[in-house]
Parts: sequence; C-alpha cells; structure tokens
Amino acid sequence: MQFDTMAILATHQPDPITGAVVQPIHLATTFARNAANELPGPYGYARVNNPTREALEKALITLEGGAASLAFGSGQAATMALFQALRPGDHVLVGTDAYYGTPALLEEVFHPWGLTYTRVDMSNFDAVQASLHENTRVVWCETPSNPMLSITDLLTISRLAHEAGALVVCDNTWATPVLQRPIDLNCDIVMHSTTKYLSGHSDVLGGALIFKRDDEFTKRVRQIQGLSGAVPSPFDCWLVSRGLKTLGVRVRAQMATAQAVADFLDGHPAIQRVHYPGLANHPDRALIHQQMNGPGAMLSVQVHGGADDAIRFIGQLKLITRATSLGGVESLIEHRASVEGPATKTPQNLVRLSVGLEHAEDLIADLAQALDRLH
Ligand SMILES: *Cc1c(COP(=O)(O)O)cnc(C)c1O
Repeated sequence: MQFDTMAILATHQPDPITGAVVQPIHLATTFARNAANELPGPYGYARVNNPTREALEKALITLEGGAASLAFGSGQAATMALFQALRPGDHVLVGTDAYYGTPALLEEVFHPWGLTYTRVDMSNFDAVQASLHENTRVVWCETPSNPMLSITDLLTISRLAHEAGALVVCDNTWATPVLQRPIDLNCDIVMHSTTKYLSGHSDVLGGALIFKRDDEFTKRVRQIQGLSGAVPSPFDCWLVSRGLKTLGVRVRAQMATAQAVADFLDGHPAIQRVHYPGLANHPDRALIHQQMNGPGAMLSVQVHGGADDAIRFIGQLKLITRATSLGGVESLIEHRASVEGPATKTPQNLVRLSVGLEHAEDLIADLAQALDRLH
C-alpha cells in the first residue's frame, strides 16, 4: 500500500459507537472500574495511557514500519526519555551537526548524570568505528542534518553500530516517513519532533519515538514515559494525528517548491553556497537516491559576507517570516547561528529556510527583491 493511503487508514477509524468519522478527543484523566474492580479496557490513568495518544502512537507505528511507539510532549522530551533509559557509565555517539538540542541535553543534563558521549562526523566511517567502545549503547544519527543538510549512510552506520552492540537512533524529523523510513534501513529507533512536518501547521509541540522491536529497552522507555509524564495532551495528540492525514501531500508540494527555490538561489551572484540535497552539486547525491524518496523541503543558504549580511538579507523579506522552527505550511527563515549562541559551529553567513505551501513564484520574487537590496 502507498504511503498516502496508509496515512488515511491509520488515522481514520470511524467510532464504533457513534459512527463519527473523525476520532473523538478523550480528555478524561481517569477511567472507571466495574463492581469487581476491573477496568473495562486497557486504560486506567491518562499519564500512562489514553485512547487519543494511543491512536497517534498506532498511526506512527504504521507510517514508520515499527513495532511500538511512544508519544511525548516535545521532541526534546522524546530524546530525554530515550537517554534516561540508559545507565550511568553508558556512552553515546552523536553526529557533529545534529540538532543542537540533542548534544546540549547530553552535555547539560546527562553528562552530570553519568553518560559520556562523543561527537563524530557520521560520514567518516573510520572515525565512527574508532569511537565505538564497549560501553557504547546508542549511535544517534540525524539525516538530512540540521542545518548543513549532510546525509548519513544509515545502512552502513547501522552495520558498524550493530557489530559493536549499539542501538541506532535516527532523528527523522526533517525527512519524515514520506521520504525516508529508517527502520527499513536497519535503524532500531526513529525519533520525531512532531512539532514540525508531522503536525505541519506550527500550532502544536510534540515528539515521538518509534521502535523496531517491542523489547526490554522499549519497555524501559515506556515505563519512563508513564512515570515521568512528559506526555502530550489529548488535544495535541489529535492535532498531530490530523496533520498525518495530509503529510504526504504537504511534503511533496513543499519539496517541489523547495527545489525551485534552491535552483533560483544556486548561482545567484549574492549567494555563496546553497545546501540542498536536490541540487546536482550536493556531495551525497548517490546516497540520497539510495535511501530517500526525495530531497525534502529544507535548505540552507550562505550569502557572501558575514552575519550582518545574512541578517540584512532576511530583514528585507516581506512574505517569508523570520522565525525559528520548520515544517509548517508557512515559509520560515532564520539566522541559525544567532539561535544556537556563541558556541555554534554553524557558519555566520548561513540562513536556514523551511519552504512552506506558498506558490514558488511568490517565494522566489520575495527572495529576489531581498537579495537585490543587499548590494
Ligand atoms: C525541532 C527539532 C527537535 C526538537 O524538537 P522539539 O519539538 O522542539 O522539542 C529535534 N530534532 C530536530 C531535527 C528538530 O528539528
């Protein structure tokens, strides 16, 4: 079955009692027991499980091809729960240009708590191999990466990690299961910030983990989800489920526009470099064809000059909104280094663009007038 059909089927089960074709939102925090003190269903208390969250988790299992899924109140809460399932003394490998919040959690929260970690260039297999130790439990990949759009070879990294006895996690927020299914590429766990494409309208914070196996490790993370309670509200779960229905259409439309925008920017005299997996000059073209169904709708652009020039450029935009985050129907642009702070390795002349559902011609006209005013 094709992705779009699966997305509708997975999020659309008419309510057996009322026939309502849209899933109800179950706001109840608690569930009544019968006279024999038994619960009628699998639900007891909403932090541990509730029907609206379960509906989202089941849909995510289908779309990512996993065996279990856990929803959280943000992408960072999902990442946090996964690291909390490790033990002090364990070691984590994380890519050099992962989403800045992932290594920030390792440094600020989990390092004091006893985890060690190494940042490594995931395209340098010798370096990855050399950084895998006996206590390495997790290899954390993110592809395409944020904000440099570099591609990690998930099949090769999974082989290296599995030989060393480590689990492979892939942050699939940017690719979405429309373009890439990490579990099919031998990864063990998929992480999402559902705040982005999965919900798709910049109106809900959420995160999720999808597991290839419902094994002891998955059970441990589920226990942490229920005990620590960093869970999404039923309404937020419902919003993400609704977003999933249009995910395929949105991602394909946004991607076609992103390609047109990248083609326009690439070769513009005011632009030094465009980072977009859909351009012929992207260094990982072969790999993109091997593991992705398309280059996605995120791109990064380095203007000629420094931070001031990059900020002056986006300051001239009229249609595209200057804001952090990505994956919504409205195009967003940001000077990434300002957001990441003084420790950032992101080039100062780089801006990151999340292409929305506006018409390509209008976006290109806006970018063109802003670039013209740079001189
Ligand atoms: C936004 C984002 C996160 C963090 O998710 P939140 O929902 O903001 O907590 C993690 N990884 C990637 C790639 C992201 O874009």
